[in-house]
Amino acid sequence: MPEDREVQERDETGMAVPLLDLKQQYQAIKKEIKPILEEICEEQYFILGPHVSRLEKMIAEYCHTGFALGVSSGTDALLLSLMTAGVGTGDLVLTTPYTFFATAGSIVRCGARPLFIDIEPATFNLDPEALSVVLDGLSRSELEKAKAVIPVHLYGQCAEMDPICELARANNLIVIEDAAQAIGAEYKGRRAGSMGDMGCFSFFPSKNLGAFGDGGMVTMHDEAVFAKMQMLRVHGGRTKYHHDLVGGNFRLDAIQAAVVAVKLKYLDKWTSMRRENAARYRKFFRDAGLEEIVTLPEEKQTRHIYNQFVISVKYKRDELKQYLLEHNIGVEVYYPVPLHLQPCFADLGYRPGDFPVAENAARSTLALPVYPELSGEQQAYVVERIKEFYA
Ligand SMILES: *Cc1c(COP(=O)(O)O)cnc(C)c1O
Repeated sequence: MPEDREVQERDETGMAVPLLDLKQQYQAIKKEIKPILEEICEEQYFILGPHVSRLEKMIAEYCHTGFALGVSSGTDALLLSLMTAGVGTGDLVLTTPYTFFATAGSIVRCGARPLFIDIEPATFNLDPEALSVVLDGLSRSELEKAKAVIPVHLYGQCAEMDPICELARANNLIVIEDAAQAIGAEYKGRRAGSMGDMGCFSFFPSKNLGAFGDGGMVTMHDEAVFAKMQMLRVHGGRTKYHHDLVGGNFRLDAIQAAVVAVKLKYLDKWTSMRRENAARYRKFFRDAGLEEIVTLPEEKQTRHIYNQFVISVKYKRDELKQYLLEHNIGVEVYYPVPLHLQPCFADLGYRPGDFPVAENAARSTLALPVYPELSGEQQAYVVERIKEFYA
């Protein structure tokens, strides 16, 4: 996901609406951040250590899991989870084609093959019915190779976890939640990252809980999974220079952990601000009378955390995007090319038309600014410009 955080030049109306404004967020918390960074510089203890273990406990508590393990990024959280699950050469992993690249990239990096499943049109999340159809169609030997399923909680809203976990149980699949966009999101009162076997989070700066660089976390209930992952995080050894497994360097550093720990205290407040912004967009769009052209994101689960507020439009998405950018409004398309049509996955043999819902989403969606500090005036400006474009 691009790091779009520049405050843009103001136009003649004096209004600018960036997609995200991390400088504004930093101003509000820098009094707390600076002394901790200073302390880490004095200590010169940078990799893992007490700041990381403390954050791991805080995240496990926040996500309602027994354990959490700090890792180098959301991408590495996925890779390490698959490695811990023993996914390897020739295995199959079921997932959505409408997600950030890392979800499927990690599967291929383990030597396994992604088996894509189409999404639900209303939420853009993995469709449990489509999952059931694909599982039913697998041969005996394919079913034996199928090791895991990765539902993605896209844009901050949980996938339909009950039917997904039930299908996984019936077919002996490990469930790895890609919760990189969904920290604090809930499904029937349960937190993202607590429903599957492992939950993967990203602290990339543009996520709802972002570090000052790369970082990530894996949550889990099972202590044995935690212990194995802890080894794989440091080249597969319990003791330095003695290797039981082939792991990698997947470590989180103290500076990132300390920054995230400070920000975590504000996360629920920021989430409610995002949710208020989403509610305000709904009102402004209703008043603008654009329902024939613009479909607003459906809030199907009870706690959508709005990492993104993604609308879909009937026509002229690319022209609308250009128009808004020209009016100093930061918008983005997540994602213009579904993963089954990426050149690097050509050998998987997928074709245009294989996943019509995902392909339509890639053509019609547009993310609008929804960050916590966004003002009502800025939102009114965004909706006005969209109305103007379609007039
Ligand atoms: C951001 C993201 C990732 C990867 O996280 P990084 O920390 O950037 O490596 C994985 N999956 C999804 C759905 C994401 O949005």
